[in-house]
Amino acid sequence: MSKQPTFDNIRIVLVNTSHPGNVGAAARAMKNMGLSRLYLVEPQDYPSPKAVWRAANASDVLDKAVVVETLADAVGDCAMVVGTSARERRIPWPLLTPRECGERSWAESAEHEIAIVFGREDRGLTNEELQQCHFHVHIPSNPDYSALNISAAVQVICYEIRMAYLTAKEGKLPHFDDWDQPPAKQQDLEYYFSHLQDTLETLGFLDPENPRQTMTRLRRLYARIRPDEMELSILRGVLTATQNYIFHTDNRIRDLKGESGESSHGES
Ligand code: SAH
Repeated sequence: MSKQPTFDNIRIVLVNTSHPGNVGAAARAMKNMGLSRLYLVEPQDYPSPKAVWRAANASDVLDKAVVVETLADAVGDCAMVVGTSARERRIPWPLLTPRECGERSWAESAEHEIAIVFGREDRGLTNEELQQCHFHVHIPSNPDYSALNISAAVQVICYEIRMAYLTAKEGKLPHFDDWDQPPAKQQDLEYYFSHLQDTLETLGFLDPENPRQTMTRLRRLYARIRPDEMELSILRGVLTATQNYIFHTDNRIRDLKGESGESSHGES
């Protein structure tokens, strides 16, 4: 990779936290490990003196925190999005260990923005939110009591990023493949998914009344591949060509019906 990795390209995203103290504790955990970019998606009871109090001397991280309404707003410009989860989900996703997450985040921070996403204290991230991520991370914990406090989970992940930074300094970080094109950003993938869904519905392949898990499985396929910007633009071109073809074919059929005297109202 040509540019230098940097903590500045790695953001921690907390989704819909209910306790402001946890936001403060997360800010402190981040700053201890050298991270400073905090995004808060719909935080409850925030801003709050409790957050400032728990942040101790990391209130500068809180001052700079970006508050947004949706997860998409927090991760749209990122080309690597990692969702953290205290438990196994029904459809498994490409998984990283916390160590791999730290190493990959550090290596990729040289090239693009990275988001690591943490869920609600009571019920974590929704499946829909987890499906906006390229990778999932689970911190190995006691299976009988697997959920860490959110700020403790932030601490573990940020520690691994710091370890990766130190390992890289010694020249011991594993090498990740160089690539000629940047990976697609999350927001462009989202445009692609809605374009894809639209086209599959027009083709009659996807039943909007009964979509089952098709889009989830397609999302996972693309998460696994992580298409680059060029590949994604080709794929979008294919969808546009498909939609144009359907449109022109529909028009031709309509014209032919018109010529043979048929009408859509059944008059003759
Ligand atoms: N009852 C919730 C627990 C949420 S804990 C659930 O079942 O999902 C709050 C957040 O802390 C989680 O959404 C996740 O972001 C993080 N977290 C807690 N324990 C974790 C673990 N073992 N591995 C990874 N993330 C964890």
